[in-house]
Amino acid sequence: MMKTSFCSCKNHTETIEVYDFGMMPRVNNYSSNQEDNDRSSLILTVCESCKLVQLSSMPDLNSIYLEYDHISSASTSNVRHLKNVAEIINNKHNDRKTLLEVGCNDGTFLRNINKNFISHGIDPAKNVYQKKSSDNFSIHNLFFDTSNQLKIRNLVGEKVDIIIGLNVFAHNSTYNDMFSAVKYLLASDGYAYVEVAYAKDTILSGNFDTIYHEHFCNYTLTSLINILKENELMVVDVDKVRTQGGSLGIWIEHLNENKEVSGNIDVILKEEHDFGISDVSMYMKLSKVIEHKIFNIKSRFLANAIHKKVLIVGVPARGVITANVCNFKTLQNAVAIDDTPEKQGYNIPGTNIPIENPEEVDYKNFDIACILAWTYKDDLIKRIKKAGFDGDIFIPFPDGKYI
Ligand SMILES: [Zn+2]
Repeated sequence: MMKTSFCSCKNHTETIEVYDFGMMPRVNNYSSNQEDNDRSSLILTVCESCKLVQLSSMPDLNSIYLEYDHISSASTSNVRHLKNVAEIINNKHNDRKTLLEVGCNDGTFLRNINKNFISHGIDPAKNVYQKKSSDNFSIHNLFFDTSNQLKIRNLVGEKVDIIIGLNVFAHNSTYNDMFSAVKYLLASDGYAYVEVAYAKDTILSGNFDTIYHEHFCNYTLTSLINILKENELMVVDVDKVRTQGGSLGIWIEHLNENKEVSGNIDVILKEEHDFGISDVSMYMKLSKVIEHKIFNIKSRFLANAIHKKVLIVGVPARGVITANVCNFKTLQNAVAIDDTPEKQGYNIPGTNIPIENPEEVDYKNFDIACILAWTYKDDLIKRIKKAGFDGDIFIPFPDGKYI
């Protein structure tokens, strides 16, 4: 293993290289159809000090987030999940609260928050949010960081009771600075609820499709506790969440050593310890596990599908990585479908596979399907079968199998 870049944790330790995925395209770049547009290296590393599994580098944030092609409401399963989280928050309170959602995207979550809350959203992307007449929240086009924290405080008008960040705190190499802004903005008795893909259930189990340029951090509870402590914050409870192929839902408050915390924390920390999170040899073995998963997808799916009519179902960020790492551009007759209109008419980044509107393809025309958006597989399989698809269906993760 090689020493690579430095971690942004307090100890600023050199990170150790875990796996080099090579030059990968940007997963949400649909501005061009060029097969080899805008590639940069994608190298997974781990910090020996804070144990954060992270990338060695990340492209410029402005180039990723000012114009963004991921739309929260494009997936029905995602909308359902955001509603469920909003329901949990709504049920916790009878009184008027100030709520701030970081990375609020098109406002899907905020629309489901009680109207008696004073709700704000922060998101740098100017292209995703379209105001509806019923919206009773404000969205501010800003990055959530310490350089903007005073501006945010002035916009919101007071300290914030509840800060929400759903799959955003992992999407930034400035994660430490983002947690520092949480510390600044959060009321003394307030809390933050953050969801992140869980490294133990995803990449550390070899499911490499959570690795892409935007997804800078791959958290475990161990690494999150270390990072939060540096920012004088603490985890008071944690839930395992089924989204993203395995996620953690983390309840965060201001650091207070005497605070009573949930027993879930020790249970998960023990699981992580037994898994080898703190043991460098676990990360050394991981590259073999990743190679095995790549081999499975190539030998079981790609070799079988190369001359067939292939339907690629869903093109999420994770799917772009699978398609590129496993060389889907060698497929000779493949079409992808995705509900996001911003993706339709373009190719899967880094490949020549066109993305079409799911309403406009003839499902009887395909021999084999690959569910790249496998975390939503139950909904998607039902949907393509109902639309007339009758071939074999391959699910790339966790085990690379046909159903
Ligand atoms: Zn570190």
